[in-house]
Amino acid sequence: TSVLYVVATPIGHLGDITQRALEVLHGVTRILAEDTRHSLKLLQHYGIDRPLVSLHEHNERQRIEQIVNWLAAGDSLALISDAGTPLISDPGYPLVTALAERGYRVVPVPGASAVTAAMSVAGLPSDRFQFCGFPPAKAGPRQTFLGEVMRFGGTSVLYESPRRLQETLAMLRDLDAQRPLVIARELTKQFETILRGTAGSVLELVAADPDQRRGELVLLIGGQPADQAPPGQVDVDALLQTLAVHL
Ligand code: SAM
Repeated sequence: TSVLYVVATPIGHLGDITQRALEVLHGVTRILAEDTRHSLKLLQHYGIDRPLVSLHEHNERQRIEQIVNWLAAGDSLALISDAGTPLISDPGYPLVTALAERGYRVVPVPGASAVTAAMSVAGLPSDRFQFCGFPPAKAGPRQTFLGEVMRFGGTSVLYESPRRLQETLAMLRDLDAQRPLVIARELTKQFETILRGTAGSVLELVAADPDQRRGELVLLIGGQPADQAPPGQVDVDALLQTLAVHL
């Protein structure tokens, strides 16, 4: 009791929920959900019948006192989002921080997330990657954001709206047309598609086929090669060693 479980739900395929997630959802006093109507359908599918309470971007901060009161009274609660892992480009961060500060147990019940599913099949270096969430919607800030993303040496993972995909790809192509790029679309669903190529070639595929601009997608960008890094990032020690050989 007095625990908040942060529970991952599927990102598409309803089979992608863990045994433990189902047990926890059955066992809690209440389930906090981003969109209660959406989650009701999901929970009905699994035969879970627990009271649902909405917790979204716009009411999360007001809800915290009430949630603390429930936990203080000995309730156990589960937090779920519309898809995948809560807090990953989804609500829950203010709540988890507030509960951690007050000394309550916050327990992960891990499972699906689009970021890890996409990384696992992209075929891009996976030893080092950064998750960047959604780029800004406005073109100016998005361009600045993408410029920073492109300077990272490891793989970058972004969520993007299909409506902005083509414009975002054009920005990436203008920054570096040869950069390896993958789009992982509709993962675990009927029209699952993985497009692999470069910023330039993937833009051409997406521009030619409107179907590639439908559904949900993850954008993965290969890291900036070390020899393309600006002078400020040069490894001085390595450079001196190379030069010393020629002296
Ligand atoms: N919490 C979720 C997670 O753990 O992945 C992410 C929520 S975020 C609001 C929704 C975005 O995740 C979508 O716009 C898309 O970029 C990505 N996404 C979610 N499900 C996906 C899927 N089945 N295939 C590809 N991308 C997906």
